[in-house]
Amino acid sequence: MKLITRQKPFEEIEKQLADFDRPFIIGCGTCTTMTKTGGIDQVQEMKERLQELDKRVSGWVVIPTACDEMTETAMKENSRAIENASCILVMTCALGVHRISLYIDRPVIPALDTLFIAVEDTPGYFREVCAQCGQCVLGETAGICPITLCHKGLVNGPCGGTNNGKCEVDKEKDCAWTLIYERLKEQGRLDLMRKYYPPKNYQVALRPRTIKIQ
Ligand code: SF4
Ligand code: SF4
Repeated sequence: MKLITRQKPFEEIEKQLADFDRPFIIGCGTCTTMTKTGGIDQVQEMKERLQELDKRVSGWVVIPTACDEMTETAMKENSRAIENASCILVMTCALGVHRISLYIDRPVIPALDTLFIAVEDTPGYFREVCAQCGQCVLGETAGICPITLCHKGLVNGPCGGTNNGKCEVDKEKDCAWTLIYERLKEQGRLDLMRKYYPPKNYQVALRPRTIKIQ
């Protein structure tokens, strides 16, 4: 499982750094290395691009896993260069940005947009399978998530637009509810297709969500 990120347009990064001439760059050795948005190569490339803009990059580091508590240790190990910086440019997912912000009082600027959580099907191909709705229906949909895979997020499907197993919104994509139907049929559980599912209770997903694991 990986958090999928995409680098912001460079013009946006440039604009955000307009008031800061000495950035320190932080990447992540886990998700953004896998997705090639914030690993060593991308951090070094960013450093060179910023230097072309006459920024004096005070240093850089790729933290093994930027969202965990070892981030504090990694930042302490680089404290000299970080103290010398006017801001921190972060090439990690938003969890890493949040974590890094806890340990520093100067501006922390994300260079990436965090998109979704995905599984890697084949090397380099990541697919979203869960939108973290907080009320999972996979037990009744044969393990296929209609919230994530159906273009309309229908909890009672398919809609009238399904055609030969394809989705009316995007004809290249399989209709999620046809997939659900086929798999339930294989399992001898087609009665579940006739069941009515009430609208999702989005109260269970009120933000910010917190939990204490005992
Ligand atoms: S129903 Fe879909 S979005 Fe909701 S928790 Fe289950 S897999 Fe995730
Ligand atoms: S065709 Fe299928 S996947 Fe597409 S919106 Fe309708 S039910 Fe959802």
